[in-house]
Amino acid sequence: MKQMEEANEILSTLNKEGFHAYIVGGAVRDFLLNRRSADIDIVTSAQPDEIRSLFPKTIQMNTEHQTVIVRLNSQLYEVTTFRGDSLQQDLFERDLTINSMAMDVEGNLIDPANGEKDLQGRYLRSVDPVKTMTDDPLRMLRVARFVSELGFAVDEDLMKVIYSNHSILHSVAVERVAKEWLKLFKGIHRQSAFKLLINSSMYESIPGLTLDKDVLNKLSRLDIDQDETDVVCWTVYCLVLNVDNANILKCLALSSQLIRDVNKRLVGYWLRTEQLWTNLSLYDTTIQVAKDIEYIRSLLGEAAYKGTELEQIWGLIPIHSRSELAITGRDLLNETNKQSGPWIKDELRAAEEAVVTNNCENEKECLLEWLERRRK
Ligand code: ATP
Ligand code: MG
Repeated sequence: MKQMEEANEILSTLNKEGFHAYIVGGAVRDFLLNRRSADIDIVTSAQPDEIRSLFPKTIQMNTEHQTVIVRLNSQLYEVTTFRGDSLQQDLFERDLTINSMAMDVEGNLIDPANGEKDLQGRYLRSVDPVKTMTDDPLRMLRVARFVSELGFAVDEDLMKVIYSNHSILHSVAVERVAKEWLKLFKGIHRQSAFKLLINSSMYESIPGLTLDKDVLNKLSRLDIDQDETDVVCWTVYCLVLNVDNANILKCLALSSQLIRDVNKRLVGYWLRTEQLWTNLSLYDTTIQVAKDIEYIRSLLGEAAYKGTELEQIWGLIPIHSRSELAITGRDLLNETNKQSGPWIKDELRAAEEAVVTNNCENEKECLLEWLERRRK
């Protein structure tokens, strides 16, 4: 696989300088599953300053681990100095056996926890489940996430630990929850993952999320795609919770841009439930947001426009943004000799609506006349 060949360039560079270096964790798991990896992690005996000196393009991460991001052929690699004092120790500190494998530059597997066997048996297992899950309770949510992505069964001992310890998930940082939740949400075996959340009562303990059995059952019936955008996922989540704005996402510390984008879709969605698209509602919503809304409607089993139908309406709207309007606030001031004030905003909006609804041509003289008549 090309991804691994490229990562091997980094291993070779480190090896040539006498450092140990291995691809580890999810990338090895995905390689053995013949799946493309979201990201590639490398561990090495080299120290961060040594890593930085060997690669021209690097970024130092400010995390608890000693990680340097290396950029090579426009891919990013997280290169981390061994957490413990050896590879073995590093691997045993990981969450699940299937995530505890390493591979050297020649493709030899280093697998002290028997991860390959569990991978073949489609099994999620931790070597020491009590310690692993209680040391970092997010790992319990990661178990559900991997159930969702891979459809693997959860080992009985691990399951018991989750059943009796889920409440400590409360202490986990919401930013970490949001990332795992999205992956869980998009997984093709989401139904099994939601079952696990319900059966273990884990859903009651996930900080930042508002979940109950009804919400989980509704979500599990939706045909969400693995490649769904984050904004569509969060909008669907809000809709299933039946909220009319995205404030609920603030407790997950999501970016304000994302929350604004979700809000646009929620506002448009509720507008759309009341009426079909008109020139004006589509113009205000914009085509991309409207396409997402129609797509979300189809996910929710509601009648939806096709993308091409929306494009047809959009194509017939004379302008697609305020900047295409043939007059500006300056034109209005020149024309009227009035003082600047809120009336400008009001008139520009009126002109915009007139153009969008085909009541006036998008032409300066026509618009100024039309506004003149409107003032009387
Ligand atoms: P993805 O496919 O989403 O990248 P991943 O398993 O690679 O999944 P990452 O967050 O990229 O997840 O982490 C990389 C590796 O680091 C994991 O495979 C695992 O070995 C280890 N890891 C990540 N998070 C934890 C954790 N909370 N506790 C223990 N080990 C972890
Ligand atoms: Mg990864």
